Amino acid sequence: MALIIDGKKISQDIKEELKEKVAAYQSEEIQITLAVIQVGEDPASSVYVGNKKKACEYIGIRSLAYELPEKTTEEELLNLVKELNERTDVNGILVQLPLPAHIDEDLVIQTISPEKDVDGFHPQSVGALSIGQKGFLSCTPAGIIQLLKRSGIEIDGKECVIIGRSNIVGKPMALLLLRENGTVTVCHSRTKNLKEVAKRADILVVAIGKRKFINKEYIKEGAVVIDVGMHRDENNKLCGDVDFLDVVDHVSAITPVPGGVGPMTIAMLMNNCVESIQLRKDF
Ligand code: NAP
Repeated sequence: MALIIDGKKISQDIKEELKEKVAAYQSEEIQITLAVIQVGEDPASSVYVGNKKKACEYIGIRSLAYELPEKTTEEELLNLVKELNERTDVNGILVQLPLPAHIDEDLVIQTISPEKDVDGFHPQSVGALSIGQKGFLSCTPAGIIQLLKRSGIEIDGKECVIIGRSNIVGKPMALLLLRENGTVTVCHSRTKNLKEVAKRADILVVAIGKRKFINKEYIKEGAVVIDVGMHRDENNKLCGDVDFLDVVDHVSAITPVPGGVGPMTIAMLMNNCVESIQLRKDF
């Protein structure tokens, strides 16, 4: 019987721990503030931003919401980011992606001060991760490490295969698993013999962005499977990149969708906001 890794419960545990830390900071008169910027009214982005605000409220982090119109210019957005960089009462800055096509996302990310880069997307944060220095970690992969550790799944010495090499999931995931002493392979759309490579995995992380793409033909019996994907199936129900029903009896542990990786991303964003206090001292 496979362990169904309960991301909802683990993320709730993390939020409770963070709530206590925030209360301790508040007793020292330290208030943590996250600025959340959304440009346009993409419905999915509005849901994500709303969930982030709710999580802040729950934990005791102050959130400042900037809801800018779709036609906001790049310059206007960059000026707002620079203003927030300067504000000593703002600890974290989050610009909800994707941005409208007329705004250069990379430029916006690079403009956020690395001290306030709670999404962990700034080149300095990514560079720090790659050479083992302190910095903010990308939230989804950091959440996956927590899911594994808090489920008692050993990473040290394990064959870890990641399918997907995006900047926000696949690449930082590889670096984090390497940091935990996994033996890491990263696959992508040009990988040859994907099934054979994936079957080497003791821990398989799937971030391919294709609905129910991975079935048991890609998975070694008894492997741990982490499904990052987020889609709607033919019945409009949420599902992942992995065909859960096909693989569940074949694996030793698996994250469900929903209720697996998804809730961890916000929990780790909250964690980064709390860590910003310590990191500010370290920078
Ligand atoms: P992405 O930027 O679209 O990257 C997909 C990756 O999969 C690319 O590296 C691509 O290779 C690779 N790929 C595509 N088709 C492939 C194939 N047939 N064989 C092997 N590799 C293939 O996706 P992402 O942003 O990493 O997101 C992945 C999924 O996770 C999406 O469903 C997204 O919605 C979800 N997601 C969820 C969360 C969460 O909090 N739960 C967070 C982020 C993302 P190339 O590089 O060669 O094109």
